[in-house]
Amino acid sequence: MRFDIISVFPEFFDVARLSLLGKAQERNLIEIAAHNLRDWTEDVHRTVDDTPAGGGAGMVMRADIWGKAIDDILARNGGVSGGKAVLAIPTPAGTPLTQAQCAQLATDAQHIVIACGRYEGIDARVAEHYTQAGVEVFEYSLGDYVLNGGEVAALALIEAVARLVPGMVGNPESLLEESHSQAGLLEYPVYTRPLSWRELDIPEVLLSGNHRESARWRRDKSLERTAAIRPDMLRRLDTSTLDKKDKRKLASLGYLVSREENRLEPFAIRPAVEADIPALAELSARVFPDACPAYLSEEAIAAHIAENFNEERWAHYLSAPEYLCMVCERENGQLIAYTLCEIPAGDGVAGLNEGAPADVLVGGVERQGPLVLMSKFYIDRPWRSGGIAEALWEHTRLALSERTRDYLAPVVWLGTNEGNKRARNAYKKLGFELVGKREFFVGDESNADVVFARQIHMA
Ligand code: SAM
Repeated sequence: MRFDIISVFPEFFDVARLSLLGKAQERNLIEIAAHNLRDWTEDVHRTVDDTPAGGGAGMVMRADIWGKAIDDILARNGGVSGGKAVLAIPTPAGTPLTQAQCAQLATDAQHIVIACGRYEGIDARVAEHYTQAGVEVFEYSLGDYVLNGGEVAALALIEAVARLVPGMVGNPESLLEESHSQAGLLEYPVYTRPLSWRELDIPEVLLSGNHRESARWRRDKSLERTAAIRPDMLRRLDTSTLDKKDKRKLASLGYLVSREENRLEPFAIRPAVEADIPALAELSARVFPDACPAYLSEEAIAAHIAENFNEERWAHYLSAPEYLCMVCERENGQLIAYTLCEIPAGDGVAGLNEGAPADVLVGGVERQGPLVLMSKFYIDRPWRSGGIAEALWEHTRLALSERTRDYLAPVVWLGTNEGNKRARNAYKKLGFELVGKREFFVGDESNADVVFARQIHMA
């Protein structure tokens, strides 16, 4: 691969003799040559610029001088190894340079000519002419800021492309996990000795020798960093690269895999507000039957829904101070999950007549504070895997913890159908323990429930 740079400051590129770029040239993996644009001028002052057509500040670089230089360089090195030539023009008005573009150039191009502008830039006809002449013209920007000239941007392109040329980097595997590589994520944080530095320790998992756990930790950090710093990258992520644990992690960061489009989208978990009432009534009525055992009649289920999930009841839940309703909302406003808790006054018991486990030890600890009833915890069917349950529970737990912060060991309890294995396993995973049984009426039909409970303050 050959890079020809044309600039009014060719000395700028002396640094290309250093480090990996220098070594790669010694090993003939790449060639880099810098040329002085002024060598193609014909006047004594070696002028390369003129005043802007149409007026305005500054000077513009002349198309005729650039044309001669580029023609010469392309012809001189015409068909380097018979391969493709690209005319790269750095400009703040170009497309932001990406790793994917660099990888493409490293694979496709044999000859890259870089035209470094100065002043107000290069006459626009240069890019236009070479495009029309069938040369691939690549106008790229280093970022949303303005440099004095294209030289820094040229060096950036050379470094980014050259290190992807086979043989350049000692361990090609190191390229795979890098930020902006195939993974489409920012890289995880990296550490080396000393183990402890200025009271900062290397995360223990990386020293444990457990490669699986280290890999998981790194993956989670990558996801966390990308969500915090480059949410735009998460939105472009190929979701087929995500495993279950990735999805759970992403849900805890507020992203879920959109069912319609197979892309990540942000979601919010928040307390419900009055405007949610119609959507809550619709969602709660629709998902309730999913948790009912087969022996309950349709009539009993319908009667329960009509009584408990109408808009009036929801208006009551949202206005009465003893209730807490948290909802999970998609970017498009659709509600896909909710919890409803009843928080008794003082250190009282919610759901005493409904089988509340008032006196049991939970987590081996005696309750000190209220016994909260989580009467509803529902997720709409298409969203049941993928970490929404964990995220919704954690938000609900934090809100409950806040509401019961005056007490040492408040507890939350719930009942779920004895035969509903999916729900039972899910609650266990969320830290609930089985503490008893109860009878629950749906319509006027009895339903055998198991009772789970959990400390609220413990994460
Ligand atoms: N008038 C131009 C504009 O507003 O788009 C800026 C010209 S700039 C001062 C001079 C030269 O610096 C450009 O022709 C380009 O070669 C280079 N340059 C400046 N900022 C750049 C960036 N963000 N990315 C790539 N090249 C840049």
